[in-house]
Amino acid sequence: MFKQGKIGFIGLGIMGKPMAKNLLKAGYGLIVYDIVKQPVEELVEAGAVAAASCAEVAAGCNGLLFTMLPNSPHVKAALTGENGVLSAAPKGLIIVDTSSIAPLASQEMYEAARAAGAHYLEAPVSGGEPKAIDGTLAIMAGGDEDVFNKVKDILLVVGSSAVYCGGPGSGNTTKLANQIIVALNIAAVSEAFVLATKAGVDPVKVFAAIKGGLAGSTVMNAKVPLMLDGNFKPGFRIELHIKDLQNALDTAHAVGAPVPLTAGIMEIMQALKADGKAKDDHGGVVQFYEKLAGVQVRK
Ligand code: NAD
Repeated sequence: MFKQGKIGFIGLGIMGKPMAKNLLKAGYGLIVYDIVKQPVEELVEAGAVAAASCAEVAAGCNGLLFTMLPNSPHVKAALTGENGVLSAAPKGLIIVDTSSIAPLASQEMYEAARAAGAHYLEAPVSGGEPKAIDGTLAIMAGGDEDVFNKVKDILLVVGSSAVYCGGPGSGNTTKLANQIIVALNIAAVSEAFVLATKAGVDPVKVFAAIKGGLAGSTVMNAKVPLMLDGNFKPGFRIELHIKDLQNALDTAHAVGAPVPLTAGIMEIMQALKADGKAKDDHGGVVQFYEKLAGVQVRK
């Protein structure tokens, strides 16, 4: 399905650009839009067609449209704003929103799409830029199961797994669980590696010794090599992780599930933001501990 015509793609940032490129590589046509010109030009060079607005993407696509935007307000603007997708949605349009947004916002978008005769499936992803480039993201979907089943094959072009988690809001709630685990894992790795370094043990040896044991993790394998190089180029920006943690705190308070550790890592990230590091990769959390202890975890 959707091999004829062009799939729509809105939001060509760190994640959206490689995902869109993988759709092109798999033989799908694309019509794309971003408020920033440069990535649009790059996609056009790769074979996509450029649109001048979200509405133009909706009108020119083949019934399927992806969004990959920063947060809830951006998705709301792109879908329900002036010249938004829903102002020009063909009947039955399927919107696959791969952004990580508040579960409540995704429920609102589901209802807005339904009122306009379209379908909204939330499909946030995990894996970061490297897995977006490789097409091996982990995808967690929420919305209508029959809509998920219609697009699952295409989700598996950009991801290596796609799981239907339940009705509207379920995909983004699952993503919040993912983000809590990633943030706390980074904090634990940072705390432990700063301790070892301060105590005089070579962090390269610490990594080699423990990565294969119970403490080893995908987060450790992805972030420790970058920490050892002092490389905090994003990747996933601290400011975006703050957005996810805020959504996690709001959701947790709304359902009555206290999340004390999430509150703690939120304050660590707020401290880094106040220190001018909001645009660093979230692996840059190690800098918070480095400052406290007066050492750097480096090769
Ligand atoms: P990004 O800021 O690099 O990209 C977002 C893109 O959306 C930008 O190119 C921006 O110009 C565009 N945009 C914003 N508003 C727009 C609008 N109204 N119309 C059209 N384009 C618009 O962010 P990213 O890192 O690609 O993240 C996107 C989403 O994916 C976020 O929700 C993030 O939490 C999630 N995510 C990111 C990563 C990661 O490692 N970067 C991993 C998993 C999930």
